[in-house]
Amino acid sequence: MEQTRRTVQWAAACPALAAACEGWLKTTAERSAAARVRASDVAVLPRMTGAQAMEAARRHLRGLPGRYLVSSGSGSHGQRSVRALTGHGSYAPQQMDWLPLQPGDVLLNCYPAGGAYLHTERHAERHGVHTVPAGSDLRQVAGMADQLRDIGVNVVAGYPRTLVAIAEQLTGGRTLPALRTALWTGEHLTVGAREALCELNSGIELWGTYSSAETGCVAVGWPDCTPGVLHLCPGQLVELTPRECLLTRAAEPGADRPLVRMPLGDQLAAARCDCPRTLPALRVVGRVAHTIRLRATDLPVDGLWLAAADSPEVTGAQLLAVPADPADPAGTMLRLGLRVQPRAARATDPGGTATRAADRVLTRHPQLRAVISRAPDAFFTEAAPLELLSSGKTRPIVVLPATP
Ligand SMILES: [Zn+2]
Repeated sequence: MEQTRRTVQWAAACPALAAACEGWLKTTAERSAAARVRASDVAVLPRMTGAQAMEAARRHLRGLPGRYLVSSGSGSHGQRSVRALTGHGSYAPQQMDWLPLQPGDVLLNCYPAGGAYLHTERHAERHGVHTVPAGSDLRQVAGMADQLRDIGVNVVAGYPRTLVAIAEQLTGGRTLPALRTALWTGEHLTVGAREALCELNSGIELWGTYSSAETGCVAVGWPDCTPGVLHLCPGQLVELTPRECLLTRAAEPGADRPLVRMPLGDQLAAARCDCPRTLPALRVVGRVAHTIRLRATDLPVDGLWLAAADSPEVTGAQLLAVPADPADPAGTMLRLGLRVQPRAARATDPGGTATRAADRVLTRHPQLRAVISRAPDAFFTEAAPLELLSSGKTRPIVVLPATP
């Protein structure tokens, strides 16, 4: 109750917070009291770095039951790193009606070793669910299809890229496990990824979470939510500004990660959801300030590949970059390419698939269109398998050597 009161006070004190939490504030009885709070109550909160957030979590949990996990949580772009964090943190807040698992379910855990893997295991254990590790070589999953069916696997959990790979292995004439539910986190669940999963079971329930090693679970999505929309978990605030997003969470007994105003690595945007829930709804737009410079024009990396991937005929997309100076791969680009991976079920016309992806990108990004009008050779597309990070997520940009 104290946390709610403080959270409402903080939210109401800050216009950005109040906008992000509007629906939630309306349903909270303490709202009238919040009107007395000063705006400076938020402004004085310190900002934490990721390292400070991890340290705060460790300090907070010292003495509580549970063991530390050596994690490889790295975000989408950074190097893999070893971090210490608790292993008993919640996968999603207990108090929410977010219940993808039922006692007796059998879950195929496709995450690599790390935080998402462990939290999935703990979440399953808490709900009386059996788990099967998919292992590090996902090519073996196809060979396990009959066994997975026989032991009753009905839930699958993994990064969207991994789920697509699993789905494409399990389709194609094999006897399928009857999958009821898919849990995902870590990157966008593209339209094509959703379609690939629906080929396994047209009624499959998709349950998403937005989380990181530093923050734990921030937002969750239900099967009846608008695709791509997630709801902020209770007790948290997000300040949305054009340049950064700050997450605030009041520490309460038992919380696995107390956070005070931590800048997120992602840019979030307020959103509307078709579901009836009143929790604030948001979309993950992409990494903060993640742009690439092509011939003196800055372009949004995530916006480009999201436009390319926004079709049921592709499972994902990534950028290909040819630096003007090979010694400076982070500098301005001479050429920019777009690679899309056609869905296996629709891979009959990869050239046409790539052309249509380029059309989507150019329609939504006039600044890129302007560059191409001046320099037609500055942009190209191709249809090919995506290059992945060691975590199994999609590598956002692949830097290519200069072409002759
Ligand atoms: Zn919703």
